Amino acid sequence: MADFPQCRLATWADADRWSARIADQVRAADHLPDVIVGLTRGGWVPSRLLADHLGVKRLLALRVQHWGITATVSRAAEITEALHGSVDDARVLLLDDITDTGESLELATKHVAERRPARVESAAFLHIGHAKFVPTYYAEEIPRGSWVWVVFPWNYWEDVRHFVRLSREESDDVEVIRRIIGERCGLDLPREHVAKALSAGEPPKSSAAG
Ligand code: AMP
Repeated sequence: MADFPQCRLATWADADRWSARIADQVRAADHLPDVIVGLTRGGWVPSRLLADHLGVKRLLALRVQHWGITATVSRAAEITEALHGSVDDARVLLLDDITDTGESLELATKHVAERRPARVESAAFLHIGHAKFVPTYYAEEIPRGSWVWVVFPWNYWEDVRHFVRLSREESDDVEVIRRIIGERCGLDLPREHVAKALSAGEPPKSSAAG
């Protein structure tokens, strides 16, 4: 039987609450950054939300690949696209959506620290208690032992397509697939979403990880 992870569905309202909370923590520390570096892809949307909350204008992306398709670690964390802008003498805040092993944010922090910034701090919307790297700021902690795969709004269709693909090993029927995903992942997906994912083709190869 295919391996389905237990899931938690995150909403846009959650994302706004998490970015507001991190913005409050940053302000309370009086550590407003000059530049926010979003880890792509998970931290890309969060970094734009945080930039809005904090009024930060400079936003950079750093591509780190670690997890492959939904809920499977397929490699060691690796920087596959380096920082494309200078952080010389800048106060930098790195942001990811979640620290799970913590390897992505740890590696990204080292990468930025080597580029002579004035300060490097890190943040994640969610932090799992077992992570080996603890970000400077996080909005919510998932206790060690309560691991779940978080279906973020910016990863929703990728995750749904993946669960539908796994379910198709057992059935091609929309209702049966809905039930399989409900029972094994704890996700109550709308029928139309399952049907849409069923009719979607395979994603391009380059989107298989990150
Ligand atoms: P890690 O290097 O293990 O801390 O994982 C970092 C990246 O993998 C994050 O940016 C997420 O995009 C993805 N990821 C890892 N674990 C999870 C999870 N439990 N739920 C959702 N996404 C995750």
